[in-house]
Amino acid sequence: AHLDRIAAVDDRVHAFLHVDRDGALAAASAVDTARAAGETLSPLAGVPLALKDVLTQKGIPTTCGSRILEGWRPPYDATVTARLKAAGVVILGKTNMDEFAMGSSTEHSAYGPTHNPWDLERIPGGSGGGSAAAVASFEAPLAIGTDTGGSIRQPAAVTGTVGVKPTYGAVSRYGLVALASSLDQAGPCARTVLDTALLHSVIAGHDPMDSTSLDVPVPDVVGAALRGDVKGVRIGIVKEIGGEGFQAGVRQRFDEAVEILTGLGAEVVEVSAPHFPYALAAYYLILPSECSSNLAKFDGVRFGLRVGEDDGNPSIEQVMGRTRAAGFGDEVIRRIMLGTYALSAGYYDAYYGSAQKVRTLIQRDFAAAFEQVDVLISPTAPTTAFKLGEKLDDPLAMYLNDVATIPANLAGTPGMSLPIGLAPEDGLPVGLQIMAPAMADDRLYNVGAALE
Ligand code: GLN
Repeated sequence: AHLDRIAAVDDRVHAFLHVDRDGALAAASAVDTARAAGETLSPLAGVPLALKDVLTQKGIPTTCGSRILEGWRPPYDATVTARLKAAGVVILGKTNMDEFAMGSSTEHSAYGPTHNPWDLERIPGGSGGGSAAAVASFEAPLAIGTDTGGSIRQPAAVTGTVGVKPTYGAVSRYGLVALASSLDQAGPCARTVLDTALLHSVIAGHDPMDSTSLDVPVPDVVGAALRGDVKGVRIGIVKEIGGEGFQAGVRQRFDEAVEILTGLGAEVVEVSAPHFPYALAAYYLILPSECSSNLAKFDGVRFGLRVGEDDGNPSIEQVMGRTRAAGFGDEVIRRIMLGTYALSAGYYDAYYGSAQKVRTLIQRDFAAAFEQVDVLISPTAPTTAFKLGEKLDDPLAMYLNDVATIPANLAGTPGMSLPIGLAPEDGLPVGLQIMAPAMADDRLYNVGAALE
C-alpha cells in the first residue's frame, strides 16, 4: 500500500531519491514468513520506513543529496540500518535532503527540492525534508532523520509530524555520513509520539563501532509515551526563544499549548538561558569547521564522481579540484570555505576557539535551567513553512530558521518537535519543541504524549 502511495504522489512531493521496491517487498514477505512460523517479532516488524539518504544501506545508492556521491553503493549497513532490519522494519527507500545535510529547506539537494505535502509551493523544512514529507504525505508511517542543527525537528514542525533528536551518543553514528561529528545525531520521525517512541527504542543503544556511543541503558521512551502525565512536572519556557522574528500564529499556538499544559497540572515557569542568543553564531563557526575536515574525503578517488581525468595530463590535485568543483553545490562550498578560514592559523582562536567557549556557556545555561525545571519548551521554528525559493539566495535568512533548535545540538541534549495546531494566518502546521537533560529522553515523550 505504501509503495502504491509513493507511486501515486511522489512525482509531486519528491520525498524519495531512491525507492527499493524489490527490497521492501522481500523484507515484508520475510516478516510474513516469520510470523507464520510463530516467531516472536518486534512491535515494528513489517512496518514500512523511509531512510534519510545520509545513512548507508548495503548495496543501495547513498548520495547525501550530492552529485559527488552519485553512483556510490555502500558496501555496509549503518548500525541504524542494521537495527531496523533486525527488527523487521521494511525500508522503502532513501529520502531527499539538503546536500550533506546543510540547509533548512531541502532546496540544497542536488536532485531538486522536496515539496511540503500541506502546500506543494512550500518547503518541507530541512535538511531532512524528504523524511518529514514522506511521513506527512502518508508515503511512510515512519522515517529516520539526522539532526545536527535541527534537521529532524524543524522539518517535523513545518510538516505537522513528530520528530526527535535523541541525546548525543544515544543512537550510533556508524554509517551516518558525517556533517559535524560532535553534533550529528540520528533519530525517529512519525505521526504520533508513541510511534516515534517505538522507533526510538529500536534504533537507540550502545554500539562499539561508534567511539562516542553512550554505554548506558536506553530510557523507557515507550513507557513514557504511554504515560503522558504532566501532573507536577516542572516546565520552563525559554525566555530567549520566541520573541522578535517569531510569527504571530506560531506564538499564539505556543501560548495555547502552555495553557493546556498548565491545565493538565504542570508547573510552568519562565526560565532564562542568557547565552542562547549566541548559539546560532557559535554553531555556524563550529559546524563549517568540522564539515570542512569531514568532507575532505570526497576527493574523486575514494567515492562516486571523478571529473577531468582524461582532460590533458592532470595532476592528482587537479583531478581532486575538478571533482570537488563539479560535485559540490554552492552551500557546501560556502561552508568548506568558512570552515577552513575559521580553522586557519591566526584565526583559529578568534573564531573556532571563541565558538567553543560559547558552546560551554550554552551547556552551562542548560545545566542551570535543569536545576529549576524538568523540561524546557519553545516554539520549534520561528515561522511556518515558507515558500520555495524565498530564502534560497539569502544564507543568513536560511540560518535564522535554526535559532530554536541549535542550542540542544551544542549541548548534546535531546529535543522533540510535535504538532500543536495550525497557524491562523496561513493554515500551516506549528511545532512545539520540548528539551530535556542528556539521557532523559523519556521526559520528551511523557510531556509530548500529554499534549498530543
Ligand atoms: N539548518 C541546519 C544547517 O544548515 C541543519 C543542519 C542539520 O541538522 N543537518 O546546518
